[in-house]
Amino acid sequence: MNLSEKIRNIPDFPKEGILFKDITPLLKDSKALKEAIVKLADLFRDYEIDYVVGIEARGFLVGTPLAIELDKGFIPIRKPGKLPYDVLKISYELEYGKNEIEIHRDAIQPGDKVLLVDDLLATGGTTLAATKMINELGGEVVGCAFLLELAELSGREILKDYEVKSLLIE
Ligand code: IMP
Repeated sequence: MNLSEKIRNIPDFPKEGILFKDITPLLKDSKALKEAIVKLADLFRDYEIDYVVGIEARGFLVGTPLAIELDKGFIPIRKPGKLPYDVLKISYELEYGKNEIEIHRDAIQPGDKVLLVDDLLATGGTTLAATKMINELGGEVVGCAFLLELAELSGREILKDYEVKSLLIE
């Protein structure tokens, strides 16, 4: 199946001048969803992974089924104020402004090997911030997985210290 056809381009969302990649048609199609998750998992099956870490919100939509497919547990990175226990927070610059994300401090133990997942790699700012939190907690990012990578935004370059793999590259 051509999975790229299941991603819709929405001009001027959430702001004028931004072409938003909408993955909801892919999520809605059972065959496309299954194929995307299995193929993304295939890219990392040989890796030693303890946990899959997904970034709110669309990283949950990809990360949780990916964790199940890889037979691993799932750890959420969330927007501020959502996680109920002791958190580590980081601020970072984003394509559309400034942002903050949090993770439970006890979610990662020193030496844990994690696969970081998000739906889309744009500038890489979100994922880089997530890697910093995981590193600070003593974890090791063994890979970064994306459904879709926007190559012209060069997110891969700021993530050069990590193994970055995307199912679709545009
Ligand atoms: P980055 O931090 O610039 O790499 O942006 C990636 C983050 O923004 C991810 O969490 C994406 O979900 C979100 N994002 C940025 N652009 C798009 C888009 O066109 N479609 C869907 N999500 C996007």
